[in-house]
Amino acid sequence: MLVRLTNAFVRLAQEVKAQLSKEAGAAKKAQEDFRDVPPLSEWEACVQCSFCSKWRPCGTTEAPKLMGADAGFACKMVGFSCNQEQRYTSQEIDAAF
Ligand SMILES: [Zn+2]
Repeated sequence: MLVRLTNAFVRLAQEVKAQLSKEAGAAKKAQEDFRDVPPLSEWEACVQCSFCSKWRPCGTTEAPKLMGADAGFACKMVGFSCNQEQRYTSQEIDAAF
């Protein structure tokens, strides 16, 4: 009985491990799909993410649309991830606009 239980635990642990590495792989893949933050000099306009509060560059024509989104603006709407660094400080961004 004890042996069977142990085997079940081992199997469960292996399944969890396999699942975790699968998720890690998927997360890595997703991360590669995100855009790099362009140099500040190339930012036309920027919008602030409702989720992570980071500023993200966008085109001047898309800015009003993005800011007016019902659920607020999210990094992924312009191809970025909330996990990405803002890259520039809010002061630097302020100074650029
Ligand atoms: Zn965000």
